[in-house]
Amino acid sequence: MELTDRAVSASSIAKRRCFACGGPPSSGIGEHIIPKWLQKKFRLFDEQLTLLNGTSIPYRNLTVPCCIECNTGFLSRIESSVQAVLHRGSVLTNEDKLALARWLSKLLIGLLVKETGLLFDRSKPSLGTIVEPDFIDELRHSHFVMQSARKATSFRCLHSEFPFSLYSYRVSNYRKNHEFDLSTNIAGQSISIRIGGFGAIFINDGGLQMEVGPKGPFDLSGSDLSETQFREISARVHYKAALREATHFYLTVENEDSIQTEQLHVRSFSGCLPGSSELRIFRDWNQTELSYAMSAYMHVDRSILFDEETQTCRTTLFDQDGNLVAEPKPWPDDPGR
Ligand SMILES: [Zn+2]
Repeated sequence: MELTDRAVSASSIAKRRCFACGGPPSSGIGEHIIPKWLQKKFRLFDEQLTLLNGTSIPYRNLTVPCCIECNTGFLSRIESSVQAVLHRGSVLTNEDKLALARWLSKLLIGLLVKETGLLFDRSKPSLGTIVEPDFIDELRHSHFVMQSARKATSFRCLHSEFPFSLYSYRVSNYRKNHEFDLSTNIAGQSISIRIGGFGAIFINDGGLQMEVGPKGPFDLSGSDLSETQFREISARVHYKAALREATHFYLTVENEDSIQTEQLHVRSFSGCLPGSSELRIFRDWNQTELSYAMSAYMHVDRSILFDEETQTCRTTLFDQDGNLVAEPKPWPDDPGR
């Protein structure tokens, strides 16, 4: 707990301390957020990730300060324990879920820490960094998940076994040389990744999205999707994540051998729904907002996605009779199709 507190403190972030423990970083280049084995496997070294300010950075330069102990210790265990899940391409047990969630927490925390270290506009340093260092404090809950690889942790949660939402998919029909897909919603604290035929989406929300949809949009978690359909599901999950209006109170107790993390209750940022005693957990779903999210995450022009007449978004997932489409028709301007 001490290491988490130290790592998420604004001063540790500002001073470029180890992103996982807040200690002095090693003199090397630090931890690769997208691990080198993954960059090598999919030839990602020169591929670019688009950051919040719209600029891009090659995956090979996506590193965060890290100390030798974390790098060769629990972070390397996170990398090795997720291998079986990624190779098999399915999540079978609670152990698999936790292994995958730890790995995705590590990616999400790493990306945020990276963004706190980059100036929003290099020609205007006064505008500050892309993400303010204080924001990392929000990631404390994600640290609970990541740090559980360092020390045995038991979770007692209100909505499911674990304090996060996680969906996974089998993905077929992806284009050649498009084996890898990564997207995040920093406001919603969600990350979506596809490695070949396996796609997973993690939301650092204490499990709230799974509470309203245990299998995600249209109950499709665990299903076979195409590349485009996975992008659409990711866009819908990212959008829902950004609508979250609530968080959890946690009680965390630590002794020499283990940590126990318990969710005590949900706290809504905006209180109760009008005329009711029910807490507002998500803002209302809005089709126009969704169309902008889908357009951005699917790389498709919004005019193709949004039906002005009915004011609703079109979908690649179902045909007119409501049956899941196995081979969706590509969107007309989907690049590369
Ligand atoms: Zn460290």
